[in-house]
Order: sequence, then structure tokens, then C-alpha cells
Amino acid sequence: MRSLETTTGDSEIMARYIFITGGVVSSLGKGLASAALGALLQARGFSVRLRKLDPYLNVDPGTMSPFEHGEVFVTDDGAETDLDLGHYERFTGVAARKTDSVSSGRIYSSVLEKERRGDYLGKTIQVVPHVTNEIKDFIGIGDDEVDFMLCEIGGTVGDIEGLPFFEAIRQFSHEKPRGQCLFMHLTLLPFLNASGELKTKPTQHSVKELQSIGIAPDILVCRSEHSIPQKEREKLALFCNVRPESVIAAYDLDSIYDAPLAYHKEGLDQAVLNAFEITPAPKPNLEVWEDVSERIHNPEGSVNIAIVGKYTQLEDAYKSIAEALTHGGMRNRVKVIIGWIDAEKFDTEAVESHLEGYDGILVPGGFGERGTEGMIKAATFAREKKVPYLGICLGMQMAVIETSRHLAKIKNAGSEEFDHEAGKKRFKPVVYHLKEWLEGNRTIKRDEKDDKGGTMRLGAYNAILKQQSQISEIYNSELISERHRHRYEVDLKYRDKLEKCGVSFSGMSPDNRLPEIIEINDHPWFIGVQFHPELKSKPFEPHPLFADFIRASVDRSRLV
Ligand code: GLN
Repeated sequence: MRSLETTTGDSEIMARYIFITGGVVSSLGKGLASAALGALLQARGFSVRLRKLDPYLNVDPGTMSPFEHGEVFVTDDGAETDLDLGHYERFTGVAARKTDSVSSGRIYSSVLEKERRGDYLGKTIQVVPHVTNEIKDFIGIGDDEVDFMLCEIGGTVGDIEGLPFFEAIRQFSHEKPRGQCLFMHLTLLPFLNASGELKTKPTQHSVKELQSIGIAPDILVCRSEHSIPQKEREKLALFCNVRPESVIAAYDLDSIYDAPLAYHKEGLDQAVLNAFEITPAPKPNLEVWEDVSERIHNPEGSVNIAIVGKYTQLEDAYKSIAEALTHGGMRNRVKVIIGWIDAEKFDTEAVESHLEGYDGILVPGGFGERGTEGMIKAATFAREKKVPYLGICLGMQMAVIETSRHLAKIKNAGSEEFDHEAGKKRFKPVVYHLKEWLEGNRTIKRDEKDDKGGTMRLGAYNAILKQQSQISEIYNSELISERHRHRYEVDLKYRDKLEKCGVSFSGMSPDNRLPEIIEINDHPWFIGVQFHPELKSKPFEPHPLFADFIRASVDRSRLV
């Protein structure tokens, strides 16, 4: 059943393609709809892979400001990608790869590289066919590995930047055997209070726009704040040329993790299987999602966690951290209430007045010096008051600076990152610029002058955990693999001094040169990690560090 007949009659595994586009307005939740559909297809026994095609011209989101673009999601193989890939992983558990995210910038840079190399034999380079071919090649990577490939096109139909992508998916489906590709279009049905009606006209226009570039959607997913009456569904079906049962309502949800069950109830997965004529449709097993929803909606208590960071005005900047905390809460059956605290506040205001009352403190990753003295103060507060502390990447580096200054009495302990930024030497660098490291058996070398993008230690690296440490108990393992994204590193020179003060280096790179984890011995829960555990947490498989951080925070909340 999984294989698709090719035009020549051979039966070979070929993915069916689902292209997800958006219309009317942006931010409708295309990423979430794609991820939920992926989960539903898995629940019916199919294998899936999700892909994001973004029309912006940046080569990747690595150098984009978190204020602008939200978090950068890092894959195991070291790609810096859009945060939608995080949704995909959290819903399907399928680890994203470099080849699951592409932007116009990357497509053009690859086309131009080929042009410079002479690959096009002196031809005039044009959007059609050169750019569109490049996009189509990208879409097709690994299509013999899964049953369904879901490709989300970023932006909204009609955007100038998106045109080559829409043209490419049109050509792609045209070149594939009939029945191998499906188009799903997400739109908004606005509600007019004055007339008390849902309006379908913007959706009709957006479908027309798609049709004018040769794409006829098979499924319409309509975001709506009110229930969509049968009459309106029929109208949409008639004017937009889809079957009435392929008009799927997407209502606002209390939790994003209700999306798979909600879309299933509205018939999305059935509509997809009908469109591909997969009969009989395998029955879905939705137990995992029923359990996830049950845990989200029936907490037995709550904990308050402070996130002391730099990009706190935009919660998307810490998307995976917020989700991982929620997962940790689900494991412990508590609701996690997050307080977003701008670290810069502590430059002028007392830490106590902001952090008193929190059961746990998390200092997340970040770049640049702004706000870091505030993060160090938050670490001091957590250490002294025995509040659970989780430091992630920059958050670990700040914990090391804090303990170096206050426990090991290393005056002016700081990070080379801040001196580099300021252009002068002010600190004793307990955190220094890493210029050489091992990736497997390969030595990677970097220069200070390398491009901003791509000069980091990126992607999955192993760490060895110290026996009988708190961290090895948490992971219940002595070898772990976690994703990294950083240039600076805690300097081993200070290890002895710090260990004498009770700061244990409880996780190291396999060559024993790079500190990966520190913990404070005489503290209920004070852990810093050089990597990003949040990227691997799932609602149905909470990351052990987050699960245990929340457990410790719950314990603390019962104490005070
Ligand atoms: N800025 C720090 C570094 O480059 C930390 C990075 C991070 O938190 N992701 O090492």
C-alpha cells in the first residue's frame, strides 16, 4: 500500500508530496498544521518527513536577529534553520536534517556558484528554469525514504519573493505521475461582528491567486474563531473547486498539542487519504496524542519558572525552551507558568524584587554582552538561595563566570566574547574563543576573521558524563549526544580552582578538552550545559533535563 505505481508500471517506493501554502494573512499556523498532519499520518502507520521552503533572501536564519525571526533551530547535522522545524520535530519525533530547510538566499547562492563554475555552459541564467530546477532538486532529496514528504512554503501566496517557489511546486507536481502530489492551502475566514457572519471572500481571492499561477488546492484549511456552518463550507467548496469534506476548520486551541486531535476530528487526515485515493484508510492510533492532551489539560499543580534572558520581549526567540518547560511540566503533571524577565533590568533594579517567588530560574542562550551582568546576578541569587538553576549555553557560561568571581575569587572573570565585541581587553577570560575542535576524527579550525555565519561549533556532539554525578543520574547514561551552537567555551585552565570550590565539571567532550556540563555539588539543583537540550524535547518524550529541572522546582515550591 505504501508504494505508488509509477507511470511505467514499476512498483517502487516514492514519497507522496503534500505542499502546504498560506493565503489571506501571515501567521495562520501553517507550520503547526503541517506538523499536526505529519503526526496524524504517522498515527496511521505512514513514515513522514517535513520540509520548509522560505522565500527570504538570507542564506539561513543563523545571522538573523532573534527579535526579527524568533529562535534559530539547530539540527543534528549542524544546520541553522527556521523555528518551524522545531514544531515538526516536536510533533513527529523525526530529526530534521540540513536538507529539510532552504531559503531563496541558499537557492540563489547555489545557482550562482554553479554559474561561476561554468556548470551551465555559458547559458543565460534565469529564474525559470535554473532557479526553479534548483528548488525542485531540493524538494526531491530523499524521496525514496518516506511515504509522505510534507513541504511548507513560507510566506503568503502573492508575495513577490515566493513566486519562484510556487512556480517550482507547480512544475514539480506536473512532472510527477497523477495522484502523487497534493496542495493544501491555509486561509482565514474573518468574522464580521456587525453582520454576525463569517466571510469567505478573502479565501476565494486567495485561491484565485493560486489558480492564476497554475495551482489548484485539493484541501482548504480555514482558520476561524467561530464554527463554520455547512452552508459556508458548501460555498467555499463551490467557489474554490474543492470537495465540501475537504474544507477543514481550524479553530483556536488552548494548547498547540491539541492540534493533532483537533485536525483529526475535523477530518484532515481522512481528507488527505481520500485525495490520494488510499483505500481502505489504515485506522489511526491516537493514544500518544490523547495522553499528551490529557496531561496538558489536567495538571495537579503549578510551578513558576523565571527565564532571565535578553530577547524576552519576543517569546518566539525562546520557543523551544518554553515548549521543553511545558513538556517537563507534563511529565510532572504540573502547569509551568513562565515569567519572562529582561536581564538588563538587573543593571538598575534589585534581583530579589524580581526573582523572589520563582521556583526555578533558567538563563537561556544568547549572544553579545548586553544583559549578561544581570544573568550573572540571577545565577548568584539562585546559587545562594538554593533555587534550581538551569543555564543553557550562555547561561552555563554566566554560571561559570559567577562562580569564578564569587567562589574561586578570580577577579574580573568574564568572557572573551564581550572583549571582542568591545574591542578592548577588560576581562580575565574564563570563557574563551574556541578556534579548534574535533568533529568525530576531524579537526575543525576557525579564525576570528571567519564569516559570522557558520563559524560556530554547530550540531550534535557527544559528551561523557562523570559517574555518580547528578547529571548522569538525570540522563541515566554516561554517554549523551546534544546539539550545540556556540563559539566560546569554558577554559579548562580554571577547572581545578573551580572544582575545589565545589563546581564539578560533570560532563566533558570525548577528548576531555571541552567542558560540556557543570554542576554545583552543595546545591539541590544547579546545572549548566554548553549545549541546547531544549531542541530535542518532545511532548510525548520530555527531555530528562527539563523533566528533572521541573521536578526540582516542584520540590522547591513545596519547601517555601
Ligand atoms: N554567545 C555564546 C557563544 O557563542 C553562547 C551562545 C549560545 O548561547 N548559543 O559561545
